[in-house]
Amino acid sequence: MTYRTEHCGDFNESQIGTDAIASGWTARRRDHGGLVFIDLRDRSGMVQLVIDPEHAPAALDVAQAIRVESVIRATGKIVARAPETVNTNLSTGAIEILVDTLEELAPSDPLPFQLDDEGVDEALRIRHRALDLRRDVMRETQYVRTMTTRLIRRYLEDRGFWELETPILTKSTPEGARDFVVPARLEPGSVYALPQSPQLFKQLFMMGGYERYYQIARCFRDEAQRADRQLEFTQLDLEMSFVTRDEILELTEGLYCALWQEILGIELPRPFLRITHAEAMLRFGSDKPDLRYGLEISDVSELVANSGFSVFKGAVEKGGAVRALACPGAAALSRRELDELAEFAKEWGGQGLAYLLLDPSGEVRSPIAKFLSEEELAGIIAATGAQPGDAVFLAADSAAVVVRVLGALRPHLAARYELADPKAWSMLFVVDFPLFGYDENEGRWVAEHHMFTAPRAEDEDRIESDPGSVLSEAYDFVVNGSEIASGSLRINRPDLQERVFRTVGFSDEEAEDRFGFLLRALRFGAPPHGGIAPGIDRTVMLLVGTESIRDVIAFPKIAGGFDPLTDAPSPATAEQWRDLGLVVPPPKKQDA
Ligand code: ASP
Repeated sequence: MTYRTEHCGDFNESQIGTDAIASGWTARRRDHGGLVFIDLRDRSGMVQLVIDPEHAPAALDVAQAIRVESVIRATGKIVARAPETVNTNLSTGAIEILVDTLEELAPSDPLPFQLDDEGVDEALRIRHRALDLRRDVMRETQYVRTMTTRLIRRYLEDRGFWELETPILTKSTPEGARDFVVPARLEPGSVYALPQSPQLFKQLFMMGGYERYYQIARCFRDEAQRADRQLEFTQLDLEMSFVTRDEILELTEGLYCALWQEILGIELPRPFLRITHAEAMLRFGSDKPDLRYGLEISDVSELVANSGFSVFKGAVEKGGAVRALACPGAAALSRRELDELAEFAKEWGGQGLAYLLLDPSGEVRSPIAKFLSEEELAGIIAATGAQPGDAVFLAADSAAVVVRVLGALRPHLAARYELADPKAWSMLFVVDFPLFGYDENEGRWVAEHHMFTAPRAEDEDRIESDPGSVLSEAYDFVVNGSEIASGSLRINRPDLQERVFRTVGFSDEEAEDRFGFLLRALRFGAPPHGGIAPGIDRTVMLLVGTESIRDVIAFPKIAGGFDPLTDAPSPATAEQWRDLGLVVPPPKKQDA
């Protein structure tokens, strides 16, 4: 027996008059005065079956008993559709299969939801994922995913990369999140950690002399889930030896141009912008600025240092900053909307938000205008480039707070006024990140990227004396305001690695205990090396245009790390706990 002479979507006019066999799912069935029509679907598309009772009475009985989504097999002949029934939206819309025999291969129960219903609860869709995956949008997304990884492999293989594997049961590879741990049955009291990334192993490949490595790698981070985060996710992890930062950025740029070209048919303008971290923070208040719109921040601290407005003067006197941005069309905001924006600023740690509204006539309306001189007003307007009809928003505080407030306000206003061109792509690299950041809670320096990132050579001698001033060889790739990839050149000398460990608070014993395997490898000649790791899930999100990472992962988890499909995580049995040498915790109380 054959299941098909052609996939459903591939039948065509050239086959008219020939015998056909097709198998797939019953997408729809319609009774039309004696004739029954079935839309038969498989991965490739859809073909219409016609069952004529005069021609095939037995097939009619089968057709009438069939439920939607049942799997069937039909034999028959390809015939041309009557001109008025040709469907130009369908690749097979000019023909249909006149059925001789129809067979139900596997019946479907009544469906828990209709596939074309947009309003179905997501947990229910995931619970019945096998059904949900049959929706066109899901299939198209998974196809984009497969095209993406296929193209990545081709692109990297062409450039001499080897696809190599790294362990899943391993020791902590910190990327700043909590580790998932797996209790070791054979070593009671000990655990393996699941990798937060293959970071240290890819570095070991470089030390092993393999020059160019990549992996489509699953990573695990035990952290709160958000719309763009999952406990496990996939990244393209790559590493190169004897390489400069710019070579890595160019490779990444070339890869994204190829993806956009091949999958979306879009030619991205090159080169992608490169901007330093310091400049990004100053001009956009963010290390992942979205440049599809303006709303650029200007520093007006000097202009208002001696202002009659004490809030401005005070902020500057205390070593803080006054910065401003102009929002097109926002002069028409109501009092209530302005109050809401002030509240928004407070949520981000500001004290409020000062504003100037530029009437279309050019007149300035503002509660603070009377405290500002003509020069100050004109200076602020000139600095921000505000036009009649615009509003200028100003924040005055410590520089860190001002950056945070205006950095949050920018995307907020862009969304409110739909300032981003939906067809535009903002692709850029942020470079020269600080090596360390100070963690107030922990009272110590922490690595901004990760502890294996190299400092810029010219900053190396300040690691101990002024860690906050040391810039690194780390970079991010940012698309439309989201961080899509991070990477860096790495430390390749043990003494330098030890200094960084000490600066983030490890004693030499702790460093040896946690990262002895890395230090050991570094002592036998490590090449200069570096790499990057673009998120595959996030890249596919951009390519298909969704905001939810769960749309691009075939089997995702929902809030709380719960998987509605398998009901994982599920309680371990007493026996499992015993085998692991662990104490059985009391069962968690069911929520009321
Ligand atoms: N391991 C880093 C990450 O997962 C990327 C890199 O430095 O290559 O973000």
